[in-house]
Amino acid sequence: MNNYYKNKVKWCLICAQGWVEIKKEAKSNKLILCCSECESTWQHPDDVHYVERASSSDELLVEPNDDELELWEKYIIEN
Ligand SMILES: [Zn+2]
Repeated sequence: MNNYYKNKVKWCLICAQGWVEIKKEAKSNKLILCCSECESTWQHPDDVHYVERASSSDELLVEPNDDELELWEKYIIEN
């Protein structure tokens, strides 16, 4: 479970109980951010600081690979 929250970018402002992590929409291959607890989503890492920019997604979200993560790598909080 070492890498469980490895792609986290921020503590969730909505529920204050989970990490907002970088995920990928399985269908569109588009990166998205999703809270590990309340499943709120944001379209861009700059948006996770704003409650009013949160939404939700019905898409299946999967782990992005390292190449895809590179785009938003600078936003990731290191352990
Ligand atoms: Zn949350």
